[in-house]
This record gives sequence, C-alpha cells and structure tokens, in this order.
Amino acid sequence: MDKDFHREFKKCPACGSENRFLEELGNELKERGLAREEWIMHLDVREGHVVDQVKEAAIPIGSDVPAFGIITDVCMDCGCIYAGVLQRRDAKKGLPPVGKMPPGTSQKGKPLINPFSSS
Ligand SMILES: [Zn+2]
Repeated sequence: MDKDFHREFKKCPACGSENRFLEELGNELKERGLAREEWIMHLDVREGHVVDQVKEAAIPIGSDVPAFGIITDVCMDCGCIYAGVLQRRDAKKGLPPVGKMPPGTSQKGKPLINPFSSS
C-alpha cells in the first residue's frame, strides 16, 4: 500500500446519495452559529496503529508502524454506514496512541483500546 494512501468517498456506495446524517446535523449547528464553519460532524473518527500484540515487544521504539485514520457517516437516503475517508500514514512506536472516541460511546471503567498495551 502507498505510505500516504488517502481516499475520500463523497457518495454513498449503495445508492449514490451525498446526504450524510451526522454531517447534516452538524450543518444545522453551523447555520445557527453554534459550530465553526470548518468543523464537520461524523458518525465516528478512528485513528490508531496496526500492531500484532504478540509481536509488539520485538518492534524497537522509534520504528515506523502503519497507522490509520477512518471517518464514517450514515447515508440519509438508504441508511448505509460507509467510510468517508480512509487514510494511511506512518507512526513512530513509543508515542502515545492517537485515539478518539465519539461522544457517548466510552464505557465507564473500560479503558480505550491501546495497540501498544501489554494486555
Ligand atoms: Zn445510500
């Protein structure tokens, strides 16, 4: 895979609609002046590293490992959940994992997924 792979999907793969549910809800806030113009709401934003935890200890600190960013939303016309952005980049092992959970999805007492944890 290209180290800087980046692909954006503007239309629903099932029906071709460009109406995305969370993005439209975010636009309502913009119209009311309650959100920044450059701000875009998504169903989910995931970022992280791809690492086999069994092999993780053998990877030297500072090594490049593949990292991903995935943004999803829901088609307003057919209900399909699909990726709006797929992105690959390199991340250095040893930096804190970049993770982001959408509001309302974390569970009390349950840690966020850490690809470099030893558990
Ligand atoms: Zn659709």
